[in-house]
Amino acid sequence: MKIRISLTIFVIAALFAAGCSSGKMASSGKSKPQVKNIILFIGDGMGTAQVYAAMSIASEPLVLESFPYSGFSNTWSASHYVTDSGAGGTAIAAGIKTTNGMIGTAPDSSAVPSITEIVKSEGLATGILSTSAVTHATPASFVAHNAGRGNYEDIAVDFLKGTADIFIGGGEDHFRNREDGKDLAVPLKEQGYDVVYTLDDLRKSSSPKIAGLLAKEHMPTAAEGRMGILAEMTRKTIEILSKDEDGFFMMVEGSMIDWGGHAKDFNYTASEVIDLDMAVKVAKEFAEKDGKTLVVVTADHETGGLTLPGGNRDQKKVVSSFIPSGAHTAVMVPIFSYGPGAEKFSGIHDNTFFMNQFLELLNIKR
Ligand code: MG
Ligand code: ZN
Repeated sequence: MKIRISLTIFVIAALFAAGCSSGKMASSGKSKPQVKNIILFIGDGMGTAQVYAAMSIASEPLVLESFPYSGFSNTWSASHYVTDSGAGGTAIAAGIKTTNGMIGTAPDSSAVPSITEIVKSEGLATGILSTSAVTHATPASFVAHNAGRGNYEDIAVDFLKGTADIFIGGGEDHFRNREDGKDLAVPLKEQGYDVVYTLDDLRKSSSPKIAGLLAKEHMPTAAEGRMGILAEMTRKTIEILSKDEDGFFMMVEGSMIDWGGHAKDFNYTASEVIDLDMAVKVAKEFAEKDGKTLVVVTADHETGGLTLPGGNRDQKKVVSSFIPSGAHTAVMVPIFSYGPGAEKFSGIHDNTFFMNQFLELLNIKR
């Protein structure tokens, strides 16, 4: 009798467990989009007016205009209504509000893990691209931890931790022309990085680990001849990282949209947005073929208080106006998304939302 009861309970429990697990599988299989790779673009200082400026003067529609979902991100930092790129980058990279000027740290200066570090520890390949020095605030937020964004040489040392399999941008001086006399190219090579200093050598490289230091400090502006090079850097990086069967995460920054705003220079600003859009095109084309790649484009903050009080789209002429200081502003910035999970990015979000949403879509638990 006793045996029969416990057997019955066992059978019921087993059926219940089986029902539960199959139900769980069915629901997770249905509701969870399959995301293997994430390509994140950050237009530094790219508000909606900056995007519309580029849309107004570009010879063809921007690729951004074809993205099926869009939303907004709040950009305030832990310390200021108006963020800087350190706190803005850290919010996106590490999902935490911090003090302006800080890189990858909480307001108490303690290091917080970035999405790049977390996905790296899960076996994904990683890439960080920028047109500024890679040690500058936005790319640094994805790799380094430093309470002071200006400590470029210390930030360069953080790249030796191997968080980014591929990093390409400017910043050679912070790695090689240092106060401590060290040449960080030496340990990078020991770690298997192909260290390249020219676009030509980057083109030739097929190494799974690349340190591309293409300028002593920052790369030239798009108007000075850099137009299209970020797209090429993006193509190269996707080509290499997509060989990793665990998937990849990469961040591509259009660094100088911000500088166009600070300079209150309409053509500088708009041409940098157009250049970023060329890189977005490369990512979207890959994502279309791949089917498991999410592409998200956003900004860390708006720069320059740009408004467009007049213009003519047929003549591709725009009347522009910046605030006198050319400083950052607090307005929400756009989010554009394409690919599996893209719908999660519509609506109004906080800038701390990205990292956790990315991890959820990649099915990485913390
Ligand atoms: Mg930046
Ligand atoms: Zn700025």
